[in-house]
Amino acid sequence: MIQKALISIGSNMGDRVNNCILSIKKIKVDKRTVALKQSSLYQTSPVSEIMQDDFINCAISIYWDSTPYELLRMLNSIEEGMGRKRGIPKGPRVIDLDIILFGDMVIDTGQLKVPHPDAHRRKFVIIPCIEIEPEAFHPVFNKKLKDFLCMIGDEQRITKL
Ligand code: AMP
Repeated sequence: MIQKALISIGSNMGDRVNNCILSIKKIKVDKRTVALKQSSLYQTSPVSEIMQDDFINCAISIYWDSTPYELLRMLNSIEEGMGRKRGIPKGPRVIDLDIILFGDMVIDTGQLKVPHPDAHRRKFVIIPCIEIEPEAFHPVFNKKLKDFLCMIGDEQRITKL
């Protein structure tokens, strides 16, 4: 099964830029990945009650030659390999890799939810994704990702590096 996947990448601990770039290299090294596009890097405010540093975020699109569960497994193993500890939810993290879209599939299991359930509420996801895939389509809401932006308030800061 070859599908186009949109992956959101974020880091707010350590060398945040380098963490994002290293995770992309690791995704590209996998034989099931064909890299398509890579967004700019953005500095973004944390969407969390917990005090923490700003994030660096970006997005990549790939063709993935396996199942969405295998993609999740690969992303989780990169997170673990880079020292991600599963601590406080929405707390600081060395690297966070989320599957935003997987073709036009809708998945809702305990392990995996696609489209990512918070994607449409977060500028730090939408803006990098639509930079590289301007027509990206949300198959649950039947709307383009870019059409959610006008519904998000001004409190989420995002600046291109
Ligand atoms: P987080 O702490 O936000 O990175 O959440 C990680 C967990 O969320 C993973 O272990 C997955 O099982 C689960 N998850 C559910 N849907 C997704 C998704 N679309 N992308 C990445 N992780 C997901």
